[in-house]
Amino acid sequence: MSIKISLAGNPNSGKTTMFNALTGSSQRVGNWPGVTVERKEGKLKNDPEIIIQDLPGIYSLSPYTLEEVVTRDYLISGQPDVIVNIVDAANLERNLYLTTQLAELNIPIIVTLNMIDAAAKSGITIDVEKLEKELKCPVISTSAVRGNGCDAAAELAIKTAATEVSPRKIFSEKTAAAISEIEVLLSHVPANNRYWYAVKLFERDGKIASALNLAPETMTKIDRIISDREKAENESSEAIIASERYNWIDNVIKAAVDAPAGKPDNISTKIDSIVTNRFLAIPLFAAVMFMVYYISITTIGTIGTDWVNDVLFGEWIPTWVNSALAGAGTAPWLQSLIVDGIISGVGAVLGFLPQMMVLFCCLAILEDCGYMARVAFIMDRLLRFFGLSGKSFIPMLIGTGCSVPGIMASRTIENESDRRMTVLTTSFIPCGAKLPVIALISGALFNDAAWVVTSVYFAGIAAVVISGIILKKTRLFAGEASPFIMELPHYHRPLVKSVLRTTIQRGWSFVKKAATIILLSTVVIWFLQNFNWKLEMVNPDQSILAALGSFIAPLFSPLGWGNWRATVATITGLIAKENVVSTLGVLYGVEETARTALEYRIRQEYSSIAGYSFLLFNLLCAPCFAAIGAIRREMMSARWTIFALLYLTVFAFTASFLVYQFGILISTGLWNWQTLVPAFILSGIILVLLFRRNPYCGKDGKSALDLNEKRLK
Ligand code: GDP
Ligand code: MG
Repeated sequence: MSIKISLAGNPNSGKTTMFNALTGSSQRVGNWPGVTVERKEGKLKNDPEIIIQDLPGIYSLSPYTLEEVVTRDYLISGQPDVIVNIVDAANLERNLYLTTQLAELNIPIIVTLNMIDAAAKSGITIDVEKLEKELKCPVISTSAVRGNGCDAAAELAIKTAATEVSPRKIFSEKTAAAISEIEVLLSHVPANNRYWYAVKLFERDGKIASALNLAPETMTKIDRIISDREKAENESSEAIIASERYNWIDNVIKAAVDAPAGKPDNISTKIDSIVTNRFLAIPLFAAVMFMVYYISITTIGTIGTDWVNDVLFGEWIPTWVNSALAGAGTAPWLQSLIVDGIISGVGAVLGFLPQMMVLFCCLAILEDCGYMARVAFIMDRLLRFFGLSGKSFIPMLIGTGCSVPGIMASRTIENESDRRMTVLTTSFIPCGAKLPVIALISGALFNDAAWVVTSVYFAGIAAVVISGIILKKTRLFAGEASPFIMELPHYHRPLVKSVLRTTIQRGWSFVKKAATIILLSTVVIWFLQNFNWKLEMVNPDQSILAALGSFIAPLFSPLGWGNWRATVATITGLIAKENVVSTLGVLYGVEETARTALEYRIRQEYSSIAGYSFLLFNLLCAPCFAAIGAIRREMMSARWTIFALLYLTVFAFTASFLVYQFGILISTGLWNWQTLVPAFILSGIILVLLFRRNPYCGKDGKSALDLNEKRLK
């Protein structure tokens, strides 16, 4: 008989780590909320009969966000056989709040004290036996990252699944009596969930009340019961329930936990006092990112990339393939397809793999040690200062890998207009696939300078902030920013295993894409570039592609790169952003594909300002099809999707136009009024949009910010 085990717990308590340990799979782990937005299922490693489910992290069963709804609906209707409630042993008090709610569900439950290693380091000791007695359920200590106790926890869960449960009742006598009275009125609700529904009704949970479809007279009776309690306590029923839960937790903690007084984990606190310092935080973040790009783009990564490009794809492979094909007597067109098409295109992209791997590795280290969670916190402060939701930064952080999961992570945002805004702006942040374009341009025109890459990332952040400010003042997006509260994980030495896993996963998906979608695109591009409408093989200048590209190209002249090759590269970027480079590789690929050769051609054709403008446009404009699909799914509307794509492209166009025009003005000192007049007018409009008073001004929701600040102190 199969058993369903659900892993439930607060965000960041280690559920996915546990899931991976139990099932042997490698789901994405991240130390910020919102990484797991969908339920994932797997089988226990040694027993396919046991099904393990990883649920999105939640703080309570009163859902405010989409991920909380996912988890709650599942727990109530799907009925797992047993819940493994994963709690962060170092933050027991906050984590037990959810435990008190899960314990009411009438599903067998065990509690795992995860991160017991971190708790021990901060000097916290927990008396497991006493805790079991208080919680009335089995408790076990685990350290999911190290794999300690995971199998034992699974065994314990399986054993517990077969046991009977009676809901734990943790409320004061009077509240419990009121809940029982409500229970009596719920005769049509299945008996096993009745208690839980009664508590929710007592809390005046509107969603539950309408879902149960109670008769009006029953509702009146329930309302009287609640009002009586509220009058007696002089508090709202929701507050009564919450404070009674916390009272109960307080007693449990007093009985079973021994923690040192004062703020534990001094090292983390000390580091945070510098890293999240009001004035130092952003410069430090910029410096860290600069170092990352310096290492991956300018120094170490370049050595690898240069070798792959210049030697492997530049000499060895073409020479070898050429001679092999010539030896086999291959037709010239096929030889051209393979060497000028596939090797030039795919090679141009794969050439950046070493740089990307070093970059992914650096980012994974920053992520794993806990720094990226601080960045989210810092960005929250920055975004909130502009009246935006700090929660938007998590999707962007995830979006540095790939926009698709980034856009999906917007589900953690409860406020609908903030969520839409996040879906809209997440792809401004350069994803991994855009990196080759950045590396190509910075290599060809800026001597691999790390500041170019850093500036591009900050341009992405600026685009988000500017869009946020402008859009927040429109009717479509008006409203208060959602509060954002997150746990800051303890700093720890990055684990080689998880850093390698993230790096290899991302690197591998890059290679997979190069071998499929990019390969296919290069074949199509090669074909369109070598044939005319009559399907005769011609010079590239007379090809179908040249005709199409030249038709659209003038549009991009004001941006400084209105030629057909750059235009075509930009358009193929819609299929996948790696295509921008592979297309340039095919279109400029003369005899050899060496990066230096491609870079040489680019240096010949573009000024550095035009190159930067090209780069900027490609980073900010509509994302690839996969991300457009994600936008469509998350927006749940075609009109919103079209709006998003138009907005992104218009924004990109404006940004590149201004950068190019003012760049030319500053570097040459020439006043070309024809283009400068529109540039000045545009800048004026943007400034007005940015600084006009917000006609929909509400309070800027400082409370959540203060909460986060307090937590740090
Ligand atoms: P989820 O949000 O509950 O799915 O949490 P994750 O599994 O994504 O883990 C959050 C973070 O906690 C990751 O950085 C993990 O490496 C870390 N982590 C998970 N389990 C443990 C543990 O037992 N000890 C320590 N020190 N860290 C852990
Ligand atoms: Mg998770």
